[in-house]
Amino acid sequence: MAPEDKENNYKDMREEMVTTQLIRRGIRDFNVLCAMRKVPRHVFAGPSNAGRAYADMALDIGMHQTISQPYMVAVMTELLALSNSDKVLEIGTGSGYQAAVLSEIVARVCTVERIESLAVEAKGKFAESGYENIDVKLADGTLGWPEESPFDKIIITAAAPDIPEPLIAQLATYGILIAPVGDRHSQSLLKIVKDGETIQKSHHVPCIFVPLIGKYGWAD
Ligand code: SAM
Repeated sequence: MAPEDKENNYKDMREEMVTTQLIRRGIRDFNVLCAMRKVPRHVFAGPSNAGRAYADMALDIGMHQTISQPYMVAVMTELLALSNSDKVLEIGTGSGYQAAVLSEIVARVCTVERIESLAVEAKGKFAESGYENIDVKLADGTLGWPEESPFDKIIITAAAPDIPEPLIAQLATYGILIAPVGDRHSQSLLKIVKDGETIQKSHHVPCIFVPLIGKYGWAD
């Protein structure tokens, strides 16, 4: 297939993904839908997932890690109620797909990954695809990224036993944090809104993520 036809084919697959997996299931945020129509998921899913990059499922990206199901990416991104001036912290870069979706909507994305090969690969993909507002750090993300704080929004894309204290401290006043919280095998999405001195919590869809490993997460 000619390169141009291949790109059009991927564009059609993204459109189909957005219509059948996102809009039909209730995703309404215009910016989220536009971002997911645009980001080349097949690039982030990698050659081992060729042919199923736009399927309705999480995919293996090596090192026992996954790129989340498109619907889960959309739900989490929508719950963040992003605005274009936001600075967002992501914990769990993985393939880089979620960070790329965020970067289409907000001013700056800071993403932290604990596995070196994944961090390096994601950095390469951001450069290759022209994402210039994403910074990647190799570290234990349960400690956050203090030098860059405060963050308007924080997203944890690995399963946490509870929200790491340093992340609550690094969330701006009136900021929003989303994380899958529960045990190692099943969780639900927890949304935290920092409202001045108080913290409001709400539980959303059930989910299954790989574990958040670190000082304020699960043991390795
Ligand atoms: N957001 C990713 C994407 O779009 O592909 C998917 C993330 S994957 C479900 C979870 C990621 O969290 C893995 O890459 C894993 O190595 C990472 N992770 C787990 N514990 C971490 C920690 N303490 N700090 C940073 N990354 C962590």
